[in-house]
Amino acid sequence: MSLRLTILGSGTSHGIPMIACDCAVCTSSDPRDRRTRCSALFGFNDRNLLVDTGPEMRLQCIASNVRQVHAIWYTHHHADHVVGLDDLRRFNWLMGGPLPVFASERTLGELRRMFSYAFDAPPGYESAIPALLPRAIEGPFELFDRTVTPLPYFHGSLPVLGVRIGAAAYVPDVNRIPEETMSLLRGLDVLVLDALRVRAHPTHFNLEEAIRVAERIGAARTYFTHIAHELGHAETNARLPAGMELAYDGLVIESD
Ligand SMILES: [Zn+2]
Ligand SMILES: [Zn+2]
Ligand SMILES: [Zn+2]
Repeated sequence: MSLRLTILGSGTSHGIPMIACDCAVCTSSDPRDRRTRCSALFGFNDRNLLVDTGPEMRLQCIASNVRQVHAIWYTHHHADHVVGLDDLRRFNWLMGGPLPVFASERTLGELRRMFSYAFDAPPGYESAIPALLPRAIEGPFELFDRTVTPLPYFHGSLPVLGVRIGAAAYVPDVNRIPEETMSLLRGLDVLVLDALRVRAHPTHFNLEEAIRVAERIGAARTYFTHIAHELGHAETNARLPAGMELAYDGLVIESD
């Protein structure tokens, strides 16, 4: 059974280049140093599961030629992961109906608050809102004939749900993974893991922490994402351990 994981965006919350920054990465001519906000797409069984909808969701779907989305997964409610929600309207049109939205009960509550017009349409808004079917994640479930496993972990004090399908796991926005979740990360072919920058951060793994955790998890291939402007693509890749590299926007990873 084949699975295709597309990195739609590999950047941290500011995006790279950052506004008004003249550093070497923000001014780099390497296209892999241009990073939109963190998002990914799982494709399997002719279905697409979109993970998060950041501010560049529309542009990411155009860049990666995403023509269909059958369901959405929200890892958490931070703005860099959700503010593109309104553009899901286009997929309502393309798919001919409402879209299931999977998230924790808490994240769904935050989305209802942040996008109240979409969940509780005010008069006059009816035809201009995304049509979404909230689905609270309570544990592993079947989606499009595959088992989808939520991966609970922490991003500072905030609980986040990463996602595992088959031998591929997507784990952005994390600085602590409980042991019970580490046991859900055994036998991975592909791990996509948060690695923000070199310096420590209160809610994200820095590169050194991410490498240490990735070594423990031991996936055949590890890709780091949610990357800030301190990490240039080429020079960082050159010093990463074997089997680890930085993700970049548009990267397509095949697995099973
Ligand atoms: Zn910069
Ligand atoms: Zn976050
Ligand atoms: Zn984030």
